[in-house]
Amino acid sequence: MPIEFSERLKALPPYLFKELDRLRDEVKAKGVDVIDLGVGDPDRPTPGLVIEALKKAAEDPKNHQYPVYSGMNSFLEVVAAWYKRRYGVVLDPKTEVCSLIGSKEGIAQFPLAFVNPGDLVLVPEPAYPVYRSGTIFAGGTPHYLPLLEKNKFLPDYKAVPTEVLKKAKIIWVNYPNNPTGATASLDFYKDLVAFAQANDLIVASDAAYSEMTWSAKPHPSVLEVSGAKDVAIEFHSLSKTFNMTGWRIGWAAGSANLVKGLGLIKSNVDSGVFQAVQLAAMAALEGPPDSVQAMGKLYRERREVLAQGLAAAGIEVFPTEYTFYVWVKAPKGLKSADFASRVLNEAGVVITPGNGFGPSGEGYARIALVQEVPRIKEAAERLAKLKF
Ligand SMILES: *Cc1c(COP(=O)(O)O)cnc(C)c1O
Repeated sequence: MPIEFSERLKALPPYLFKELDRLRDEVKAKGVDVIDLGVGDPDRPTPGLVIEALKKAAEDPKNHQYPVYSGMNSFLEVVAAWYKRRYGVVLDPKTEVCSLIGSKEGIAQFPLAFVNPGDLVLVPEPAYPVYRSGTIFAGGTPHYLPLLEKNKFLPDYKAVPTEVLKKAKIIWVNYPNNPTGATASLDFYKDLVAFAQANDLIVASDAAYSEMTWSAKPHPSVLEVSGAKDVAIEFHSLSKTFNMTGWRIGWAAGSANLVKGLGLIKSNVDSGVFQAVQLAAMAALEGPPDSVQAMGKLYRERREVLAQGLAAAGIEVFPTEYTFYVWVKAPKGLKSADFASRVLNEAGVVITPGNGFGPSGEGYARIALVQEVPRIKEAAERLAKLKF
C-alpha cells in the first residue's frame, strides 16, 4: 500500500489543467503545429545588462557564501529607492523590505506567520492558485471572493458576512490581475486599507504585474495609501517585468511587523537569495527603463494582432493596458473547457480555460501573449476561421 499523503496535501483541489495538457500532447503527437499561448512565462530573454551583472557577481568569491537571509543591505536599499522613485513611498530598508526567492515563495509562506488553524483567509477567484494553497498549508480555510465581470473583476469584500469577517485574518488582492488583466485604482486601495483597519485584517497585495504595461498611467501601489503600513504587505517580483522567471527573485515590502513575521518563517525554511542574483536584480531595478518600456509596447502589439483574430471569430475581449494576458469570454455560452478544447482541436492554439483559476472563471479563457508577433498573427488567422 502506498504511504498516504498528509491531510493538508489532500485538501488541495485537483489540478484542472491536467486534462488540457493531455489534449495538447495528443494534438502535438498528431503532428499539428501547436501554438502555445497557455503558460504565463515571458518568451523573451532577460535583458543583457542583468546577465552581465550576474556574470560579474558570480566571479566574486564574496558572493559564494550564505547570503544575509532577509537580503543584502544594498538590495534592500535599492528596493526602497525604487519605491521612492516609483510611488513616492518611503520604506525603511532594514525593517520594511525582505528579499524573496521569487514572490511565489513569499506568497505561499506568508500565511504560516499569521494564520492559525480555524482562521479564514479571503481569497479571490479566479486567481493565481498560491493564495489558496498557502492558506490551506497554514491550516486556514479560504473564503472565496468571486471576481465578477459586473464588478470589473474587483472583489466585493463589503458583502462578506460579519461572522466570516470576524474569523478572517488576511485578504489577498492581485492587481493588475492574473488572469483577467483588471486593474485597481488608488481609491480602491484606500477603501481596502480602511476596511482592513476597521476589521483587523491584513491586506496582502500581489503586485507581480505592476510594471507590465504600456499605459501612460502607472498602476498604483497599496503602500501609497496613508496608514497602509499598519496593515499591508505587498509582494513583488522581477519575474514578469524583466523576463526573469527562472532567476527566482522578488521581495515583500510594507508593515514592519508583517515583514518580520514572514522573515521569521523564511529564516527557518530557506537561506536567502544567491547574492549574485540579488546584484543582478539591483542592476535591473537601477537600469534604464528602456527594456521594460519596449516589452510593454511589444505586448500591446501582440495583443492588437491577436484581438483581430478574436474579433473575427466573434470572441469578446476584455480591454486592458496591463499584463500579458488576454481575458476573453467563451462565445455562445460555451463552457471554458469546451471552448479551450475546440480552439486547440480546430485551430491548434493552446489557451487556458478560465475555470482552472476558480469557479467564477467558468465561461472565460486566458490567452498568454508569449510568442513572437508572426506566431501570434498565425494564431489570429487560425482563430478568425473558427465558427462558433
Ligand atoms: C507569476 C506570478 C507570480 C510569481 O512569480 P515569481 O516568479 O514567483 O516571482 C505571483 N503572482 C502572480 C499573480 C503571478 O502571475
